[in-house]
Amino acid sequence: MEITHTSGVEGPKHDPYHWDEYVVTGYNRKFCNPEIHFTVHRGLANWFSIRKDGWKIPDSNMFCWEKYMEEMLFNITGMTFDQVVEKHEEEENGLFCPECNEVPEDTLDYAGYPGETIYCCSKCGAPCGSDQNMSAVI
Ligand SMILES: [Zn+2]
Repeated sequence: MEITHTSGVEGPKHDPYHWDEYVVTGYNRKFCNPEIHFTVHRGLANWFSIRKDGWKIPDSNMFCWEKYMEEMLFNITGMTFDQVVEKHEEEENGLFCPECNEVPEDTLDYAGYPGETIYCCSKCGAPCGSDQNMSAVI
């Protein structure tokens, strides 16, 4: 299961709207089909789409689209939209080793600037992320 998030601006220049788009790629729980792309777009226009190989459910920009989207999303991914957003945020804040191309099993912690902790991969030593504790600075 992979979640990507993009955002931008749409609508007329004098009245721009912020949009967020989440794409969940992965296993279809219900039909046992891998490689489903479930896109949820929220902004000036709200829609979702489901793609697999050649077929695609038409973008749904309808009354009650949100209820319909939540049902479809849960049937396919086993997650609610809030859970998708939450999982993505966790992954984004999580540690990832760019050298080993994976989440490190263990990290070595180093002190950086005051309040900052740098996490390095215990296998190869590459920095995988950092943490800034503002309360330690103040
Ligand atoms: Zn590594």
